[in-house]
Amino acid sequence: MGFLLLDRPNPNGPHYYPSRRERVLAIVVHVTAGSEDLDTLDDNSAESVAQYAATTDREVSWHTGSDADSWVDLLPSSAVAWHATDYNGCTHGHEISKRTTDWRNMPAKWVDKTLRMAALGPDEKSGLRRKAIELGVPLRWATKAELDHARATGGGPVGFITHAELQWADRRDPGYVTEGGQVIDTFPRQQFMDLLNLQNKLPAKKGKKRMNGFTFEVLDGPSAGLGVLVDMENDRTTGITAVNLADAAAKAGTLHFGVNAAEAEDLLRKYGAGNPQES
Ligand SMILES: [Zn+2]
Repeated sequence: MGFLLLDRPNPNGPHYYPSRRERVLAIVVHVTAGSEDLDTLDDNSAESVAQYAATTDREVSWHTGSDADSWVDLLPSSAVAWHATDYNGCTHGHEISKRTTDWRNMPAKWVDKTLRMAALGPDEKSGLRRKAIELGVPLRWATKAELDHARATGGGPVGFITHAELQWADRRDPGYVTEGGQVIDTFPRQQFMDLLNLQNKLPAKKGKKRMNGFTFEVLDGPSAGLGVLVDMENDRTTGITAVNLADAAAKAGTLHFGVNAAEAEDLLRKYGAGNPQES
């Protein structure tokens, strides 16, 4: 898998840290227009805004970006991107290309395509859903208080959160609008979360392995061998494991996305999964 900011280093300096000291506890959702760093751009496509990240002298970066029809990987989740000031160390940052933070009156088809690309990626099985699964981030909206608590107590990942909540002093993305003195959240939160959880509602497909009520899915692509545990009974992702995580990591040239084999095995034990069996 290529990462734009690794493949094409910004001549003005790497505006990120190559490794983490903290684990990823949340995925931060942005829109490009909500960042004052980016609002001089005319073109709001994910590719153009990613090129901006690769050339700007502003100290800004993010991990992944998307628009209505494309997805761009800028940095692996194992790097610390500079997208949310005090929360860079414990988050993955995603930029949705959109010119304003007002999601009202946008064409429904555009909203669906844009949210679908962010949630599921171009192949409907990657995107932020897969990032979250790989990072062990629950497919739910979290609050700043939950994130602060997890960070302070060494707790596990809490979920998805908006940039505005983490940086209310000067950010309103992805969806807050002030109108007549009232602050309204216009981001289609439920629609987005439903897309993230879409595949959990599907029955186990033929060829998948089932382990004590869990479905074991081996993903395609450059990370083939990376597996995902989905708790079918509770309708959500609860763990991560891999048939050959070491192989997958070797293929990717890195220990992938901050997930390590010991953690994966701990999760397997924790959830009491037995040996893989064909469903
Ligand atoms: Zn933002």
